[in-house]
Amino acid sequence: MNVAVIGGGFSGILAAYLLEKKGINVTVYEKEEYIGGHCKTIVNKDFYIELGTILSFTKGIKELLIELNVDYSERFIYRNFVDENYHPAEHMLRDDVVILVSELSRLKTILEKYSPYLDEINFGDIPEDLMIPFNKFLEKHDLRFISQIIVPHLSSFGFGCIDNINSYYVFKVFNVNTLYSFISGEKLLFINKGTSELIKKLSQKISDIRYSLQVTNVEVVEDKVKVETPYSLDFFDKVLITTKLPRGVIKDKLYNNLMKKIDTNPFIACAYEVSNPDLVTTYYKSHLGLTGKIQFFYASKQNNKIILVAYAYGLIEKDIIDGITNDIKKLGININHLITVKQWYIFPHLKSTNLTRSFYKDISERQKVSNICLIGSLVSKPSIDNLYLSVKNSIDEIIRNK
Ligand SMILES: Cc1cc2nc3c(=O)[nH]c(=O)nc-3n(C[C@H](O)[C@H](O)[C@H](O)COP(=O)(O)OP(=O)(O)OC[C@H]3O[C@@H](n4cnc5c(N)ncnc54)[C@H](O)[C@@H]3O)c2cc1C
Repeated sequence: MNVAVIGGGFSGILAAYLLEKKGINVTVYEKEEYIGGHCKTIVNKDFYIELGTILSFTKGIKELLIELNVDYSERFIYRNFVDENYHPAEHMLRDDVVILVSELSRLKTILEKYSPYLDEINFGDIPEDLMIPFNKFLEKHDLRFISQIIVPHLSSFGFGCIDNINSYYVFKVFNVNTLYSFISGEKLLFINKGTSELIKKLSQKISDIRYSLQVTNVEVVEDKVKVETPYSLDFFDKVLITTKLPRGVIKDKLYNNLMKKIDTNPFIACAYEVSNPDLVTTYYKSHLGLTGKIQFFYASKQNNKIILVAYAYGLIEKDIIDGITNDIKKLGININHLITVKQWYIFPHLKSTNLTRSFYKDISERQKVSNICLIGSLVSKPSIDNLYLSVKNSIDEIIRNK
């Protein structure tokens, strides 16, 4: 069997690594001249900057890091919030935290009946009651305080405004245990030399990675799949797609339908060298979910340099970058200089209005019989720990059905 993987991000490189380990020949197509996708570390002689993925929320990925001999550490992260006047603000008032904890245990009971759908690694059947926007779900169940802990996290995941997000996505991405872990502030897992180190180690086991080759056509021809780029044409037994492809690239109605409906919000990362020591991850409370506004920043100290990376919704424009710089300065932070800016398109997801209850179920049924498969963040929660489990699952299934 020969397999093509489209997209050289974490999902694609991991899928290729797992297949090669089983002795299957894999060709990875990546449209950029570098691999890693949303895992992107800038490496300088005395510091590195994580522009995309920073940390892992659970320890699920640990076994992969150990297998590949990738250095990691587990650390607490401390968070601050500032209000519209740039003054320190409580994330939640103490009395509200008590109500929140009781809301969380009520939520646990409410969600129990959906656990078969919510506990699955991949997206699947959507329960009717979770087809509504998240803010409507909270109103319906009188769960006002939960939004206060979850909104900063939705914002850092790139969901944007909570009115547009389907409740199903929120509970797939943040299950009740994850919500509890936000309050208890558990340790998170960091890759010491950056996520690019993980990508590098995975890629060392893959023999055929093709760079700067954007796939423009995927089409079943008899029992093979044709994969075309502007400069090449090859046939494979199986093709695994890890990324949103423009309409019409996959010659298949169901898959195209999915691509057409996926939304990815534009998100900007700006990295600065600053001179204030001991900066803590800080959220701008009054900006959360707003386009063109800084959402939060985190800082790290490396070899006497302090690097601050700030995130905002929107497309890179001078006004937005100036706004981010000013919002950072208003907290009394001394910016030495801007190091880089990067445009992202974050978290592929479908708006509530585009979803049908069986949307993902239909896709997963098709995957069982088709030689074109969607894997990774197209069909599951896109955090690297979950992607690890989800991609591993998909590859095990492919090998079983070989
Ligand atoms: C700013 C930011 C911060 C994040 N922080 C975290 C975090 O701290 N922890 C966490 O767990 N997750 C985090 N995430 C999410 C996580 O990074 C992503 O979900 C994950 O890296 C997605 O990997 P992927 O391989 O599924 O997709 P991608 O990384 O999007 O990879 C898809 C690849 O496909 C390529 N491609 C696209 N079209 C074509 C084509 N036509 N032909 C060939 N190749 C193509 C792309 O160039 C890309 O390399 C963050 C994301 C961003 C943007």
